[in-house]
Amino acid sequence: MFELVVATRNAGKLREIRHLLEGEGVTVLGLDGFPELPEVVEDGDTFAANAAKKAETIARLTGRPCLADDSGLTVEALGGEPGVHSARYAGSQGDDAANNARLLRELAAVPDARRQAAFCCVMALCRPGLPTTFFEGRVAGRILRAPRGAGGFGYDPLFLVDGFDRTMAELPLAEKNRISHRGQALRQVVAVLAVQPR
Ligand code: IMP
Repeated sequence: MFELVVATRNAGKLREIRHLLEGEGVTVLGLDGFPELPEVVEDGDTFAANAAKKAETIARLTGRPCLADDSGLTVEALGGEPGVHSARYAGSQGDDAANNARLLRELAAVPDARRQAAFCCVMALCRPGLPTTFFEGRVAGRILRAPRGAGGFGYDPLFLVDGFDRTMAELPLAEKNRISHRGQALRQVVAVLAVQPR
């Protein structure tokens, strides 16, 4: 079994990543197994910069291969915001309800035809002695005026997936992983781990 540290404290992300790596010969180690590790400050301007910083810092401190996911919601009518600020859009880190409330406020005057958005994910894989490699995924949709569904996390209840009559929060986990930004990126990681030295 190949052990991979996944550098996130976001329970929703970790659940999805574990589900995607099940049966792939990879044991996922969460950060809860390393309580001594410091918080990595996500101060980059891009998803890739933040993902690299998390993966490289945690790989160095643990001496183990590490995978980090930096992801977020980009909304066209908001010039790409909240983007890299998605987790703390309303101020405090990871307050999903407050973030969703702010998103609805910012878009209150934006008509239905102009509410296009996308979830984006960049994963950085850092293995000792190897250059960091990057993997991307993106899924398009639009922002509703009220939440729907109880699954997922973050902005999922407000995100109506293009080509579906459902929000991300109305999709079962396996279905979200099949189409999501995170699922797309992680399937590329799995393909690389299958052919490259571990
Ligand atoms: P990060 O931990 O800095 O990458 O922040 C990611 C943030 O983007 C999360 O806290 C959510 O607000 C948002 N986000 C990323 N992926 C998803 C998703 O799959 N569904 C809903 N929100 C997401």
